[in-house]
Amino acid sequence: MTRKNPAACAKDPALWLTEGDRDARREAVRVCVEECTMRRECAKTAEELGANYGIWAGFNLATSPGQRGLRKLLGVEKPSTVRHCACGRQIASQYANAVMCTPCAQGLRDIAPVRAHLKQLLETMSQTEIAARAQISPGAVNKMLSADRPYVKGKIADRLFAIKPDAVAEAGAI
Ligand code: SF4
Ligand SMILES: [Zn+2]
Repeated sequence: MTRKNPAACAKDPALWLTEGDRDARREAVRVCVEECTMRRECAKTAEELGANYGIWAGFNLATSPGQRGLRKLLGVEKPSTVRHCACGRQIASQYANAVMCTPCAQGLRDIAPVRAHLKQLLETMSQTEIAARAQISPGAVNKMLSADRPYVKGKIADRLFAIKPDAVAEAGAI
């Protein structure tokens, strides 16, 4: 007997992300369609996020037929006009109510201004000090400076921007 599972994919998330294994994809689709009680909510989330990889709600969103199937399930049409998020990025989601791009919907920000701010801060204080003030690890600061990652969590960006190099310089002079 199969017990309905509210989020069947939680059992084995890797199955839902698989790109190459056809059997695994089929099994993921089957579970979504036959066992999951959250399929519609899942489809809505996928649409809102503009997901374009993995199996969501029984559709392989890396493919055009999968994207079409998702839209059909939700009864939404592809918008004819390109929409933009307040941040300036294009909104990839076809969901008519989506008002944000995927990174913004996930609370992420572009790293470039954060990195530039960090470099400015480093002129007057150490990496360890910045990390302590932002309540993050020195390793995280290091990664922001060096790793090739496009985004940073909004909360962390806010904490870093709250640190002002001038104020620090004045405080140091006291
Ligand atoms: S429908 Fe969504 S929540 Fe349910 S098993 Fe499939 S991917 Fe997971
Ligand atoms: Zn945005």
